[in-house]
Amino acid sequence: ATPTALLVGTGRGAQLGVLIKGPEVLESTRRVDTIVLDKTGTVTQRRMALETVVAAPGSAEDDVLAHAAVVEALSEHPIAQAVAAAGASSDTSDAPHDAGADGVTVGSLQAFDFRSSAGGGVEAVVRRAHAGLGTGTDLGSRRVVVGQLAWIGEQGLTVPTEVSDAVRDAESSGATAVVAGWDGAARGVLVLRDPVNDTSAEAVAELTALGLRPILLTGDSEGSALTAARAVGIPDDDVISRVLPQDKVDVVARLRAEGKVVAMVGDGVNDAAALAGADLGLAMGTGTDVAIEASDITLVRGDLRSAATAIRLSRRTLRVIK
Ligand code: ADP
Ligand code: MG
Repeated sequence: ATPTALLVGTGRGAQLGVLIKGPEVLESTRRVDTIVLDKTGTVTQRRMALETVVAAPGSAEDDVLAHAAVVEALSEHPIAQAVAAAGASSDTSDAPHDAGADGVTVGSLQAFDFRSSAGGGVEAVVRRAHAGLGTGTDLGSRRVVVGQLAWIGEQGLTVPTEVSDAVRDAESSGATAVVAGWDGAARGVLVLRDPVNDTSAEAVAELTALGLRPILLTGDSEGSALTAARAVGIPDDDVISRVLPQDKVDVVARLRAEGKVVAMVGDGVNDAAALAGADLGLAMGTGTDVAIEASDITLVRGDLRSAATAIRLSRRTLRVIK
């Protein structure tokens, strides 16, 4: 391959919204036969929407949302952005703001000491922001957890059947559901919608027409994964759900061990290792910096159809050369 033609190929890519790290990337792009697609933020919009809040018996929806929102204001996950935004807008005060010491204030609550558990959920210490100042009253602080049902159980919180039923119903309808809890019990469920991008079905059709096998890979539940897959035309058998970030790497490695040449498209911090471990990593330009750094190609427009553009471009460029 002549370097000049490859450079022309990468230059053409830039015009088409496909940012290629170096000319040598085009060679692996051409040979790809399997394309692993992350769900949240890749096939679906990076912008989730909070649909409903279901409170456990004895808890109030407002309280569940307020506690979840202040914790999620410290996380970057699309789930977190939706919950934090809903919590801030349901409150009379301003958007989340810095509370110092790595903390944040949303409405009347402050969260500190944030921790995140990959593929499980997030937690922080929450306390009232203003009340009790100068009165000497200790209103206390509590550790609040927000995450997937199984992980909430593993944290030692009791889960009322109303909560597990609400999660099951939401997931079987294709929604994403996370549970919020504190003081030893699950307090409610946050139900989110994760709409597929307008262009995702077309992108999957284009990739398939190019002879690639698309596989959907997600940390989310089976219900929401199957719903997204069906909406874009990926067969149920090619859906892999509830996968921890480190296991995303293993899925890619397993496909490669079977002799496949694997591309991976992702957007999240949780996709970075799999993007780096694939023959070809493609990051959504709308995604996190970590994903972009781990990838060979950036799809600048955040449009999955650009993945097909990249494959076509590499095949054309290398045909011209050979
Ligand atoms: P993906 O991006 O493929 O959905 P993740 O590994 O990021 O996968 O998330 C997997 C699951 O972990 C989510 O569906 C959710 O249940 C839980 N989770 C991750 N991050 C958060 C968060 N910030 N708040 C609540 N739950 C979370
Ligand atoms: Mg994602």
